[in-house]
Amino acid sequence: PMTDMPTTTRTIRAARGTILTAKSWQTEGPLRMLMNNLDPEVAEHPEDLVVYGGTGKAARNWEAYDAIVRTLEGLEADETLLVQSGKPVGVFRTHEWAPRVLIANSNLVGDWATWPEFRKLEAEGLTMYGQMTAGSWIYIGTQGILQGTYETFAAIADKRFGGTLAGTLTLTGGAGGMGGAQPLAVTLNEGVVLIVDVDPSRLERRVEHRYLDEMTDDLDDAVERVLAAKAERRPLSVGLVGNAATVFPELLRRGVAIDIVTDQTSAHDPLAYLPEDTALADWQTEAAADPVDFTRRSRLAMAKQVQAMVDFQDAGAEVFDYGNSIRAEAKLGGCERAFDFPGFVPAYIRPLFAEGKGPFRWAALSGDPADIAATDRAILELFPEDEKLRRWITSAGEKIAFEGLPARICWLGYQERHLAGLKFNEMVASGELSAPVVIGRDHLDSGSVASPYRETEAMADGSDAIADWPLLNALLNTASGATWVSIHHGGGVGIGRSIHAGQVIVADGTPLAAEKIARVLVNDPGTGVMRHVDAGYERAAEVARERGLRVPMWEG
Ligand code: NAD
Repeated sequence: PMTDMPTTTRTIRAARGTILTAKSWQTEGPLRMLMNNLDPEVAEHPEDLVVYGGTGKAARNWEAYDAIVRTLEGLEADETLLVQSGKPVGVFRTHEWAPRVLIANSNLVGDWATWPEFRKLEAEGLTMYGQMTAGSWIYIGTQGILQGTYETFAAIADKRFGGTLAGTLTLTGGAGGMGGAQPLAVTLNEGVVLIVDVDPSRLERRVEHRYLDEMTDDLDDAVERVLAAKAERRPLSVGLVGNAATVFPELLRRGVAIDIVTDQTSAHDPLAYLPEDTALADWQTEAAADPVDFTRRSRLAMAKQVQAMVDFQDAGAEVFDYGNSIRAEAKLGGCERAFDFPGFVPAYIRPLFAEGKGPFRWAALSGDPADIAATDRAILELFPEDEKLRRWITSAGEKIAFEGLPARICWLGYQERHLAGLKFNEMVASGELSAPVVIGRDHLDSGSVASPYRETEAMADGSDAIADWPLLNALLNTASGATWVSIHHGGGVGIGRSIHAGQVIVADGTPLAAEKIARVLVNDPGTGVMRHVDAGYERAAEVARERGLRVPMWEG
C-alpha cells in the first residue's frame, strides 16, 4: 500500500527504543540502519532514495525498499538475505554465524565498467549506485567524514604550518553530505575556510547543523570576511554560493592569499558536477536530456577549476585531491597537468592505514544520545594514553549535532577496535546501554579498498589497481561473523575506478555477539595491515610483528 503513495510524501525514520519490528536485534540492526540512511535528517535527497555522494542510494526504488523491509522483518536467525544493487533477490538458509544480509552494489565486468554503460543499465532498472555507505546502510551523516577530514587538515597543519591552521586560509568546493564536513574540520584546526557550492540549500543545511559559520552569495563580501579573520588568526568558515569552476580562477586572478586548496564537489560523477553554463534549476533536466554533452561540459568546467588548483600550487599553496576523482575528470576535460598535485591518501593518510587505522563507527539503535555519551566515556577509559583520540572524542561530544540515530566515529587500528566492540557488547548486556549498537566502518579504509586515485594511489609496490584485497576482506568478514557484508564498485571515485567492501556487526549483548566481535573487529582491520605488509610498508610489518598478525611470506 505504501508504494501507491507519491514518493515525495514518504518520510522514513528508523524506529527508536527496544520494541522490535524484526525477529531479533540481528535483523532489527540492518532494518533500522537502512531506514536511518533514508531519514531526511541524514539523507541528502531522501525522496529519490539518495543518501549522499552524488547519486549514492540505499535501495533501488521504493518497491525494492518495501520488499527489503518486509523481508528483514520476517527473516530468521539462520537465514541470509541477498541484495543485488539495492534490490532483494533471494533468501537462503545459512546458520547463525553467517551474515543476515549480503550486499553487492554497482559491480560491472571490467570492459563494461564505464559511466555510459552503468547509466544505461541503471535506466533499465537493473542496477543502482551504492556509493560506499549508502547502499551498505552504515552512513551516519556528515560526522562520518568529519574526523577523517579533521585528521587530514591536522596533518597539513603539522606538515606546513607549525601544528595549527591559525592564520591560514583554505579554499574548497562542495558542501554536500561529505564535503560539508570541511568547514568545521578547518575551524576545529583553528583555520579560516572559504567553501564554494552552487546550491544555496546545501550551504544553508551546513549552517543549520553548525558545520558552517556563515554564508553569502557575494564574492567580494566573502573575500573580505575571510581575509579579516585570517589577519586576526580567528577561526571562521564562510560559504559562498557560486560555481567552483568560476570562483577558483577568479580568486587566483585577484591574487587572494590562499594557503590550502582542495575540493569535494561530486566530481566523480560528471552529471553531479554543475557546468558553468547551466543554471542550478536546469541541472537535472539538462543532465537527463543529454548526458553525453553534459559530461563534456562538466569536464571542461572541472578542467578550469583544476587548472586553477595547479596554479595555486605553483604559487606555493598546499594543494590536494580530496578523493573525488576531480583530477581524472579534469584530465578528460583537457587539463594536462591535472595530476601535478597528489591525492590526500599518499600525502597524509597512508601511515595510519599501515596500522589498520581507519574510520571506525557505531550507532545507537535506541536512538538515545545518552548511549553514545556512555560509549564516548568507555572509549576514553579504554585508550587513556591516546591524546589525539581524547581531543577528538571530547570535542565531538560537545560540538557535533547528531543526524538520525546518534552515532560516533573515531579512527582505531588493528588490535584496538575489538576492545571497543567487546566493551560496548558488555554495556548492552549489563543494561548500561539502553539497546544494542551497530559497529561498522566506512569503505574508505586501509584493507578493503582498491582505488588507484584514492586509497591505493601510489602504493609502494605499484599494486594500486589490484582488487583481490577488498574481495578477500569481504570473504573474511563473512567467515568471521559480521552481521552484514557488502562488495561495491565505484564508490567515491566513480565507475571503473574502485572496488571496495564493508562490514557491520550488531552488538546485542549476547555471548555469541561477543564471539563474533572478537573475530570480525580483529580480522577486518587486520586485512589492512596485511595489505600494507604485502606492499612493503615497514610500519605495517612492525605492527604485524608487535601485535601478532600472521603474514606467511613475512614469517621467514
Ligand atoms: P554530494 O553530492 O552530497 O555534494 C556535492 C556538492 O557539490 C553538492 O552540494 C553540489 O551542489 C556541489 N557542486 C556540484 N557541482 C559544483 C560546482 N561546479 N561548483 C560548486 N559546487 C558544486 O557529495 P558528497 O557526499 O559531499 O561527496 C563529495 C565528493 O567527495 C564525492 O565525489 C564523493 O565521492 C567524494 N568523497 C570523498 C571522501 C573522502 O574521504 N575524501 C569520502 C566520501 C566521498
